[in-house]
Amino acid sequence: MNLSIDTKKKNTYDVIVIGSGISGGWAAKEFCEKGLKTLVLERGRDVRHITDYPTAMSNPWDFPHRGRSTVASETTNPIVNKCYAFEEATEHFFVKDNDHPYIQEKPFDWIRGYQVGGKSLIWARQTQRWSDFEFEAPARDGFAVDWPIRYKDLAPWYSYVEKFTGISGNRDGISNLPDSEVLPPFELNCVEKHIQQKVKEHYRDRQVIIGRCAHLTQPNEIHTQQGRGQCQARHLCYRGCPYGGYFSSNSSTIRWAAKTGNLTLRPHSVVHSIVYDEQKQKATGVRVVDTNSKEMLEFFAEVIFVNAACLNTNLILLNSTSSRFPNGLGNDSGLLGKYVAFHNYRGSLTASFEGYKDKYYYGRRPTTAFIPSFRNVFKQDTDFLRGYMVAFSASRAGWHQGGQEGFGAEYKENITQPDDWGIYMMMQGETVPKEQNHVRLSKDQKDAWGIPQLITSIEYDQNDEKLLQDFLMQGTEILEKSGCKNISPYDSGQAPGLDIHEMGGVRMGKDPKTSLLNQWNQLHHCKNVYVTDGACMTSVGNQNPSLTFMALTARAVNHAVSIQKTI
Ligand SMILES: Cc1cc2nc3c(=O)[nH]c(=O)nc-3n(C[C@H](O)[C@H](O)[C@H](O)COP(=O)(O)OP(=O)(O)OC[C@H]3O[C@@H](n4cnc5c(N)ncnc54)[C@H](O)[C@@H]3O)c2cc1C
Ligand code: SF4
Repeated sequence: MNLSIDTKKKNTYDVIVIGSGISGGWAAKEFCEKGLKTLVLERGRDVRHITDYPTAMSNPWDFPHRGRSTVASETTNPIVNKCYAFEEATEHFFVKDNDHPYIQEKPFDWIRGYQVGGKSLIWARQTQRWSDFEFEAPARDGFAVDWPIRYKDLAPWYSYVEKFTGISGNRDGISNLPDSEVLPPFELNCVEKHIQQKVKEHYRDRQVIIGRCAHLTQPNEIHTQQGRGQCQARHLCYRGCPYGGYFSSNSSTIRWAAKTGNLTLRPHSVVHSIVYDEQKQKATGVRVVDTNSKEMLEFFAEVIFVNAACLNTNLILLNSTSSRFPNGLGNDSGLLGKYVAFHNYRGSLTASFEGYKDKYYYGRRPTTAFIPSFRNVFKQDTDFLRGYMVAFSASRAGWHQGGQEGFGAEYKENITQPDDWGIYMMMQGETVPKEQNHVRLSKDQKDAWGIPQLITSIEYDQNDEKLLQDFLMQGTEILEKSGCKNISPYDSGQAPGLDIHEMGGVRMGKDPKTSLLNQWNQLHHCKNVYVTDGACMTSVGNQNPSLTFMALTARAVNHAVSIQKTI
């Protein structure tokens, strides 16, 4: 590519960040705050905080289909329609199936948000720290490779990102769910408190807590400086929150980065690959397809952060070939794209609860109750590896006590009474990374920008089946001991992907022969390229992952800046 010196200068930055979602937003904020000229390349359109949340204040009757997906949408988009958060009010923040095809060698529901902010606009905001029980798991249980870091390496960075993000919750003092820096918690309702008490009475290894989530229950100065306000407990978050009540890149990190004057945000820019300079033996920039002009452009920087979300990060690195790296950037080990893992969300239970009929709750709480993992924590105590976290909530079933039929005053009276209490319980299980669970590039099928399509070859195994059965049994027992009735266990049979917690493929590790990234998230063999999104995860734990991506990102930026200073 012949670039004039002027163009090259114009297109040169200190740092390039690929992707503006949860992890890319953090990279941008940190670099910009530290005074580095930072280019954020985002494949989707811009989404400005508040002004680009078109449905945030709409009422159900404002939507042509009262908020529901239409049959036409379900037929055209069978994959994304499986996501519980995809509906008439939120569909503009999700990738539609036909627009961005990929090849499912084995069924995999890939749920994506391609826009400034990525999936930070549509996540469920549950945030829990990892503990050493997760960082030490591969070495203890003999799977994947040992993590090159431990909890103590990340603990200060968890605190750092939590204070800025704003996490509501309690300090519960649980050894495998370390306490966060917290804002006041949301409250369990009366039936959840009842279950909490029964769990306490019946189990020594289990504890019910309120979910820790990225919501401003009581904003601090750092949050008001971001222009964010108190969460109103409306739970319309997936539409974008005009109050900035929950954390998204759009409401928080990207805006903060922009205020420094060091940010250049370039939407409509699909990163094709990273350029490796054989002579300099480092990456020098990225190739980008401008989705408006369809032009291929190049941008240059000393440091490149890849934050395109797990599978797209794998795709970009696999597509970054050169004489030195014919199989993808940094891929001397041949492991790039392998050991992809995810969370097992297949199991759920429903139940009813008699009593507390004179009690209700206020508002639509944007979080839920949790029981942190209790299986195989201190020792191996089942015939499957690892464990699961349990999430549950209790609610009044609806405003139709006595059924929908009726007439006159009695009917009116009946429909002002809420129905019985119902319980919904679900699992979030750890899966064990395996070499055969992988992604690779198609040799003949390309997307609209001439980039090879991704092939997904990922599936559940026997360990996942056993873990699922254990959850269904334990969940039933917990609900029975809590006095619930009509308990129905359910296996959704859903494919991997719908958990939206895909991780791995570019794993961290101590040994360049068995991993791609070192303890600072640098590619072992191309040190000015960092990967700090889910692709870097050596194993997947049972916690919601995004808080860990944020902490790893802030830590890696600090490292990148400190070594630049010493060169
Ligand atoms: C409904 C839902 C609920 C969820 N709930 C939770 C939860 O409660 N807790 C939790 O921890 N996580 C949750 N998640 C997952 C969470 O959203 C992700 O873990 C998180 O967003 C990942 O951050 P990221 O920066 O890696 O990716 P993203 O936030 O997806 O951002 C990646 C960005 O990169 C861009 N991009 C991709 N490819 C390219 C390219 N080639 N060139 C340029 N740009 C590119 C994308 O457009 C996107 O903007 C949920 C997700 C969904 C959808
Ligand atoms: S619940 Fe809170 S964060 Fe969600 S939309 Fe309402 S105010 Fe915003």
